[in-house]
Amino acid sequence: MKIYNIVILCLWIIYTFVYFLMFSKNKKKKRKSNKYFKVVLFLLIITVFINGIGIISSKTKANTNNTTTTPSSVSEETSEVTTMEETTTEETTTVTTKSTTTKSQSNGTYKKISYDLSGAIDKGKTSKGYSIQEKNGITYIDGYMIANKTYGLPESFNPGKLDSTVEAAASKMYQAAKNEKGYNMWGQSQFRSYETQKKLYNNYVARDGKSAADTYSARPGFSEHQTGLAFDVCAKGKPCITSDFNNTPEAKWLSDNAWRFGFILRYVNGKTNETGYKYESWHFRYVGSELAEKLYNNGNWITMESYFGFDSVYKD
Ligand SMILES: [Zn+2]
Repeated sequence: MKIYNIVILCLWIIYTFVYFLMFSKNKKKKRKSNKYFKVVLFLLIITVFINGIGIISSKTKANTNNTTTTPSSVSEETSEVTTMEETTTEETTTVTTKSTTTKSQSNGTYKKISYDLSGAIDKGKTSKGYSIQEKNGITYIDGYMIANKTYGLPESFNPGKLDSTVEAAASKMYQAAKNEKGYNMWGQSQFRSYETQKKLYNNYVARDGKSAADTYSARPGFSEHQTGLAFDVCAKGKPCITSDFNNTPEAKWLSDNAWRFGFILRYVNGKTNETGYKYESWHFRYVGSELAEKLYNNGNWITMESYFGFDSVYKD
């Protein structure tokens, strides 16, 4: 589509050039120049018409390619294509180049997971104006499944394993860590059912007391591990799922690179008041690379709570 448009633009320039050449040569022969003018005008109309067809077919293609992407990225692309239709031939070429870039990003490997939210209950907006929806007892903010201290998951929600999209992206991340740095990483604690979390939490409460347990372990139904989107990373020869992992080069690499694979550092250092949890350098959650890059914020991680404007506090 991009090359096609450049070709059309080149033809357009050639037509115009030829026309002016002929016009200046035949300045005194008004009748003849009129003939050239008509030919050039006709060719221009044909060009614009062919280009219009190209845009329409590109729009159809874009919509087909985006069936699995987020509603927002589809609407973004659609609006961009609509703009293209209204522009002249010359401008179209520029816009098309831009659209191709957008497409390669939204059609990339690390897409936002889309859910069928038809029939979801509208729960209003976050403090930053993002939609809160609830379906089957699960909360979605701006279409992202949320599990924190404010928004729990029902006991019945049991995906049984890590989401396949997340699993694939995590594999790519571990592979990159190996290729780029020689690190050996894997997902240690990944999906956790309501039942498993219940046992785990109760053990922590028995050991450290409820208020202490609440700072590092989720109550059953409130763990992000139940979503199938989050996991804890361990590295060979390094302390595993403990604050001793925080200062390792592997933790640094994860913090700097996880966003490339659509992951976010979920419990950011110094943001306990936002997430409700202590810093966890090993806990990552999938959101897709578009949001992940925003939250990564060039190394100064923003939490989901802060970005979307919601809290993470138990009701009791
Ligand atoms: Zn975790």
